[in-house]
Amino acid sequence: MFDSLKSKLKNIFNKSSEIDSEIIYEKKEDIPVAEPEKKTFSQPSEIQEQPSIPEEKPVSRKEQLKKSKEAKKESAPKSHSEKMVGDSGKKIKEDPLDDLLDELEVALLESDVAYPVTEEIILGVRDNLLNKKYGRQFTLEEVVETAVKDAVRNVLKINEFNFEGWLNEQKSPVVIMFVGINGTGKTTAIAKIANLLSKMEKSVVLAACDTFRAGAIEQLSIHADRLGVKIVKQSQDADPSAVAFDAIEHAKSKRKDVVLIDTAGRMQTNNNLIDEMKKISKIAKPTLKIFVGDALAGNDAIEQAKVFDGAIGIDAIILTKIDTDAKGGAALSIAHTIGKPIAFVCDGQEYDDLQPFDSEWMLERLFS
Ligand code: GDP
Repeated sequence: MFDSLKSKLKNIFNKSSEIDSEIIYEKKEDIPVAEPEKKTFSQPSEIQEQPSIPEEKPVSRKEQLKKSKEAKKESAPKSHSEKMVGDSGKKIKEDPLDDLLDELEVALLESDVAYPVTEEIILGVRDNLLNKKYGRQFTLEEVVETAVKDAVRNVLKINEFNFEGWLNEQKSPVVIMFVGINGTGKTTAIAKIANLLSKMEKSVVLAACDTFRAGAIEQLSIHADRLGVKIVKQSQDADPSAVAFDAIEHAKSKRKDVVLIDTAGRMQTNNNLIDEMKKISKIAKPTLKIFVGDALAGNDAIEQAKVFDGAIGIDAIILTKIDTDAKGGAALSIAHTIGKPIAFVCDGQEYDDLQPFDSEWMLERLFS
């Protein structure tokens, strides 16, 4: 899982060891205090207060973006790398740092990390390290790795979604609608959630609303039999909204806890499909709308999520097939890009191959 991205990052961290040996060690007292160009947002205020006017320099796009973020970050709690860097030790120079950042940028883009997320990570690392000094007890490799980890952690922050906690606060029946294009693993993910809910002692009803394909109804029926849960279905070409309505009525009358709605997944640009999703959503009034995306699709998964979000407004994401995903780009950037959390990731074809997603889980897989 994520092996290619992980090894690219490792290469970059290794390269920083080479730079490390070129860097001069400076003690705090060696540093002239009144150097305006050394001013950064996190320096102590007594060093910053210098009346001299710095020379006019052309300001690059990176610098502008960086400056706009400085104000926000000033009051933030100290990150791990801020504990390693300070005003004494070896100085991190701009040129070798920029070379490393260029390589990091290429590695992230090649791993299908979305462009805005890549930029955010690069700027985060730059902010953490440029013109800073790090203690003799650390290697530059450790410092760079920690700074990258901090920047990735910031990008992943949106991923907090406690499904069990959320579920326990809802009124029954909870209605969860799943959307996504065919082949992403939507039906399998629904079966996995049904299995999880059964383990939580919640009663489940499946609604076979992909009436476009007879095979889809059949496939969901097989899962329902295996898991011993109720399925509400009609024949092929029936109105999917009517199936959803029936399933919810059944759940209400039988006091079932959760309705899981499977939906069709013809290409997301298909207008009929989008209209169908809107109609199901309007009639079923789902408590939660989940987009199911295939991690292997990388940036395409992000584009698909945007289309479904634009049509019905999704609340959370399930990312499938991460067990076969070497790149990690979708896992790293989908939640940040569309602003919705990843609730679960699927890492295999068995019912138990469903893991709650959080930032530390992802960080561990990338940096362990
Ligand atoms: P749907 O068309 O979106 O409903 O997709 P399916 O649920 O039928 O899954 C399509 C294929 O992907 C099936 O062969 C599944 O076994 C496989 N699949 C689903 N989830 C995963 C996963 O997390 N990992 C792997 N390796 N395969 C998966």
